Amino acid sequence: MPDGQGRSFFRPQTLETGRHQSYEQALEGEYAFRIDRGEKPPFETYNDATSELRGIIQACVQDGKSLRARGSLWSLSTCAVTNGRLIDNKALRLAFEVPRDLTNPAYTGDAAKLRFVECGNSIAALNDYLFASGLSIKACGSNNGQTIAGALSTGTHGSAYEFGAMQEMVVGLHLIAGPNKHVYLQRQSSPVMQPVFAQSIGADFIQDDTLFNAALVSFGSFGIIHGVMIETRELFLLNAVRFRHPYDAKLKAAIDACDPTLIPLPAEANSVPRDKPYHFEIFFNPNEGTPPAEAILLVMYESAYDPDTYVAPEWQGAGESGLGASGLNVMGALLGRIPSPLNRLAVPLLNSQVNQEFSPYFKQAIIRDLFRGEQTLGKTLACGVGIPVARAVEAMEIAFKAYKDADTVLPLILSHRFVKGTKALLGFTRFDTTAILEMDAVNTPETRAFFNQVWSDLDAAGIPFTLHWGKYNVFLTPDRVRNRYGDAAVDQWLTSRETLMESAAVRQTFTNAFMTDLGLAT
Ligand SMILES: Cc1cc2nc3c(=O)[nH]c(=O)nc-3n(C[C@H](O)[C@H](O)[C@H](O)COP(=O)(O)OP(=O)(O)OC[C@H]3O[C@@H](n4cnc5c(N)ncnc54)[C@H](O)[C@@H]3O)c2cc1C
Repeated sequence: MPDGQGRSFFRPQTLETGRHQSYEQALEGEYAFRIDRGEKPPFETYNDATSELRGIIQACVQDGKSLRARGSLWSLSTCAVTNGRLIDNKALRLAFEVPRDLTNPAYTGDAAKLRFVECGNSIAALNDYLFASGLSIKACGSNNGQTIAGALSTGTHGSAYEFGAMQEMVVGLHLIAGPNKHVYLQRQSSPVMQPVFAQSIGADFIQDDTLFNAALVSFGSFGIIHGVMIETRELFLLNAVRFRHPYDAKLKAAIDACDPTLIPLPAEANSVPRDKPYHFEIFFNPNEGTPPAEAILLVMYESAYDPDTYVAPEWQGAGESGLGASGLNVMGALLGRIPSPLNRLAVPLLNSQVNQEFSPYFKQAIIRDLFRGEQTLGKTLACGVGIPVARAVEAMEIAFKAYKDADTVLPLILSHRFVKGTKALLGFTRFDTTAILEMDAVNTPETRAFFNQVWSDLDAAGIPFTLHWGKYNVFLTPDRVRNRYGDAAVDQWLTSRETLMESAAVRQTFTNAFMTDLGLAT
């Protein structure tokens, strides 16, 4: 068995099931890296890891084994796995400040806020690292256990609707595209680094918008993303308010306009400055009605962070789903607390548990302390449907009707989040403002049937929609991928993959069943 020299090693493993047991993947095993003990200067350690990653690709090409880099395996689809070998990158977690003289003189951003981070940094680790310098990531999903490379590779998003999904922070990618090829890639239209930076990591320097936009959301298909250049920002406070509001014409208008300022805040949050809205999220419990009379809103407004007065909110307690909780966390928290299978008699209990998880609050916190770890496991399933915001209300009504017609009781939360559109060619948040209709549930045949019904009904209604690459998305077929992203974008993505990767053999090595099933393997 090939074993990388240095920090990497191979561990045999026959089965992978992912974090929420949403699939079963037979495999040969995975490479992993030993923790860096700081024996060498960090930059040397980084470059050594590049060499090891190249060696791992070489070994897999030689052995005819498929290979895929994986992050925390938080994806619920099979995008992160393959029947050959995986690379667990989680010990690759260096992070660097960027010397100003290596940046391009045309760079209009603040060089002091750039960071070059290794792929395996978790969002939690990144938050801590940046906090020490008074900095913050710009956007985050509901939790922080993903790795930076894994999160951006599927288009992980929160509801920072004026900023976008997590990949929008990224301005450079160090991509290992074969045993003999690795590149530092950035957009031609917004140059950030000079070629000398690429030289310092031994990489070819490429400035190209199409190649960058293709590789940015590519779910492990373009090789190994070893390092990521991100733009950060100063720490900022989020005034987060969770409250109930009637599902009425006013709320529908706010959804249509993607404008939380149309909704008054509850009295205790009256003093919150409302000039910088940041996050808008709306949850529905369809077991309260289809549609329910009320929705649960989570709205966040920015204000200045003051290190002298800031006190992080307490974690709510073991087993609870956290302040930034999504429906998926709440479903995880409910597992074991509600009967299974559910019947109508259990609905009041289910609803009271959901209410408890979504109890009202008003907290002031930084990103690091709002979107925290997921404390629960279990067989939950989530799906993110990207929709043009103008059709968000209609789409949710379709989901309500599908649930009503199913005449069943499912532990299920439906929600909306909103994301500014992405330039990533296959970014599923591709509409100018993308409303994400989320369906979060316990994973049973009935919930999977419900998700499928909603997809079919949305299709029948002519609503153009995409699906989160890292969540349940079995509806996707080659035709549907092309139909949703357009032939031009798909073809550019495929051509970019061919251009960037060293050879057809390397492309084959980084091809998994997920891509083949979607017509994305060439
Ligand atoms: C509790 C929970 C909460 C979630 N909340 C949200 C949310 O709020 N918003 C949202 O959008 N999604 C959410 N998700 C989905 C999750 O954010 C994505 O699936 C994300 O991609 C997972 O990141 P990961 O580090 O676990 O990567 P993995 O799932 O391990 O991998 C994801 C993809 O990245 C690729 N990849 C990983 N590392 C590399 C690398 N170094 N080089 C090249 N490719 C690589 C993999 O091949 C794979 O295709 C959530 C999932 C869970 C379990």
